[in-house]
Amino acid sequence: MYPPRAEAVIDLSAISHNVAVLAGKARQSGAGTMAVVKADGYGHGAVPVARAALRGGANWLGACSVAEALALRESGITAPVLTWLDTVDTDFAPALRAGIDVTVSSQPELARVIDAAGRTGLRPRVHLKVDTGLCRNGCAAAEWPALVKAAAAGEIDVVAMWSHFACADEPGDPSIDVQAARFDEAYRSARQAGLHPLRHLANSAATLTRPEYHFELVRPGIAIYGLNPVPTADDLRPAMTFRSSVVLVKRLVAGESVSYGHTWTAPRETTVALVPVGYGDGVPRSLSGRFSVWLGGRRRPVVGRVCMDQIVVDCGDWEPPLGAEVVLFGTGSSGEPTAREWADTLGTIDYEIVTGMYRPRVRRRYVGTEGDPRE
Ligand SMILES: *Cc1c(COP(=O)(O)O)cnc(C)c1O
Repeated sequence: MYPPRAEAVIDLSAISHNVAVLAGKARQSGAGTMAVVKADGYGHGAVPVARAALRGGANWLGACSVAEALALRESGITAPVLTWLDTVDTDFAPALRAGIDVTVSSQPELARVIDAAGRTGLRPRVHLKVDTGLCRNGCAAAEWPALVKAAAAGEIDVVAMWSHFACADEPGDPSIDVQAARFDEAYRSARQAGLHPLRHLANSAATLTRPEYHFELVRPGIAIYGLNPVPTADDLRPAMTFRSSVVLVKRLVAGESVSYGHTWTAPRETTVALVPVGYGDGVPRSLSGRFSVWLGGRRRPVVGRVCMDQIVVDCGDWEPPLGAEVVLFGTGSSGEPTAREWADTLGTIDYEIVTGMYRPRVRRRYVGTEGDPRE
């Protein structure tokens, strides 16, 4: 069996393993673990990832939107799910009917949740979000006392309050403790309003490096996919391998140039292999001339421009067999490139690389337990 044109292989046992590592750390602080599976599980497939995370010991799931959370429920997942970012016209009623916990960051949002409660006759489970310095989503500190007062008066259950770090991936950054102090202040104000919320604050980086900020629940995302945002020695295993295969091999004479714009010219006679993946499959064109692939047991440079559908690999005097596997990125354990290397070359983060692999032309294959029921 030859590899398909473009395939993301997702190792679900790696996901379960990574969650077990993170949940183990959380447990030492008495905290539970919410596995974040937003953006279709960071490009890995939300439903299979969620199941693997629950097997690994997660007791909550985090989704960005109500639509993402409902997709988890529709697949039969019954674990607690929290959602946190929707548009102002989102109807919360389907979320309440599906037993999904919703985040409230403002009084208008609270009003919409209470409205959905009135229409469904259900009592919403709400997590209040306070902005402690990321200055993105979450209730501004000045409006927080009024929000907790209104929440305490509403026909809702305030399950938790939470916030999100700006710089937890830079251990030692002073903003981390500043945000935690503001979080504590907001907690005291919630208690004064008569609320007894759980607290959650830690993303992957804080889960790995700041146990004092685990509180009752941690919310790791990227680390469950095996990508570590902080240089710790934790045994995390990248879950995604991106691969393709050789479809054509040819010999070039010295002086021939390769791909659009002729940006690379063969300095000597050489053999090149054509691989049918390009920027239409998640290989950024800006990697042109700056990356290699794993082919025939070693790294070989990709030469010339990345096209929409194809790349060309310089194999020197070695002739790859047709159909040979080409690994674009993987775990790195055999020496193959990693998503992190792509990110470093491009000046971005590996989050963007793997999340960008959710594309119609890239087939997903699950190994290490179950298949994706949607595929
Ligand atoms: C994405 C996200 C996380 C996970 O962050 P990582 O850095 O991937 O661990 C946690 N909480 C919220 C609210 C998020 O949006």
